[in-house]
Amino acid sequence: MRIILLGAPGSGKGTQGEKMAAHYGIPKLSTGDALRAAVAAGTELGKKAKATMDAGKLVANELVYGIVEQRLAQPDAQKGFILDGFPRNIAQADVLEGMLSKLKAPSISKALHLHVEDEEIITRLHSRAIKEGRADDTEEVIRKRIAIYNADTSPLLDYYQKQGKLVTLEGKGGLEEIFARIIKAL
Ligand code: AMP
Repeated sequence: MRIILLGAPGSGKGTQGEKMAAHYGIPKLSTGDALRAAVAAGTELGKKAKATMDAGKLVANELVYGIVEQRLAQPDAQKGFILDGFPRNIAQADVLEGMLSKLKAPSISKALHLHVEDEEIITRLHSRAIKEGRADDTEEVIRKRIAIYNADTSPLLDYYQKQGKLVTLEGKGGLEEIFARIIKAL
């Protein structure tokens, strides 16, 4: 099972992705988490990514390719994986296909899209900002991140729809309720 999670920031894909990973016994890779860890550790990658992340923009594609390629080559990812936050644009989706064929791995099975309205997203991200204190969760940055999702990432819905892989689910409701919806749909 090779799953891509699609949805605006705050759509709940990170949380649901964790639950799916536990349920299916496959790893989840979040490029956002990996980048935040690199920033916290002060690595070269982290130094290159920090200002762009704080501004709510996407970092250069090349900065995330290494993270994904290395993780997908690990033994535990051979029977499947869940990608959270990658691909973020069409170029990344094409590169992902190239990585999988290089690894002689099957292509993506499904792209799971959690749909949540913009206004609901803004409310959720505000409360996350208060709880977690994420630097990229301020009002201005939140709006920027949503705009970038709509401009760069949402074309992936069409991309995977054309491949017959898109599954769109309503991302509003209780955690367990949404999780049950996901398991049923996959
Ligand atoms: P996320 O936690 O997935 O919302 O990611 C947080 C931030 O990390 C994003 O706003 C981007 O700056 C950066 N980021 C994460 N994944 C990617 C990606 N696939 N391509 C470019 N930037 C990314």
